[in-house]
Amino acid sequence: MAKLKKELAKESEAAKEKRRQAAAIVRRLAKEYADAECALVHRSPFQLLIATILSAQCTDERVNIVTKDLFAQYPDAAALAEATVKDVEKIIQSTGFFRAKAKNITECSKKLVELHGGKVPRELEALVVLPGVGRKTANVVLGTAYGIPTGVVVDTHVTRLTQRLGLTKNTDAVKIERDLMQCLKEDEWIDFSHRLIHHGRRVCKARKPICSECVLLELCPRIGVTDSA
Ligand code: SF4
Repeated sequence: MAKLKKELAKESEAAKEKRRQAAAIVRRLAKEYADAECALVHRSPFQLLIATILSAQCTDERVNIVTKDLFAQYPDAAALAEATVKDVEKIIQSTGFFRAKAKNITECSKKLVELHGGKVPRELEALVVLPGVGRKTANVVLGTAYGIPTGVVVDTHVTRLTQRLGLTKNTDAVKIERDLMQCLKEDEWIDFSHRLIHHGRRVCKARKPICSECVLLELCPRIGVTDSA
């Protein structure tokens, strides 16, 4: 019993330390990337939803090029619901997995029209049942379009950086999100992802992180980093 108590105390001290470290990281990132926003160009929650679906396995820059044409022809759910999959495939071809994505975004638009009057719902449960929409996409849309924190967006940058920073040991996105939700305050969830993604693109790059110029250097155990600038 005494041993168990000791282990639990040790665990809660480790959790407290992780929260302190996360809070310090949040402060530095907020100072460094005060205006960090979602990089996907959009004019409505619907356009953000579609752009996020297209961003799977594709860069935001490429998605922005494609959505310029896509939204010029199909700006809302009603318009995209009427499109043929073949026509949509032609426009989004360069984003990869374009057949599945074209099917998903036209089906998703149809469901939005049928079930939600063409609007994007504000509830996670209603979003994750739409074609092509998983938890990550739903978190992006709810957080960025509506300011509703339903979770922490975990993409490839957030995964890499939170592992290097020692905020998680997990590799599975759902488990990483759970770890982050435990060590961050709810009102930090949305901005934390945006800022970490910016930091991952500019400084903590996948191949060679620029640790010597990193504002998080003294807070970072640099887990798994073998080569840095
Ligand atoms: S110190 Fe290096 S590994 Fe740690 S966050 Fe900064 S760039 Fe990434």
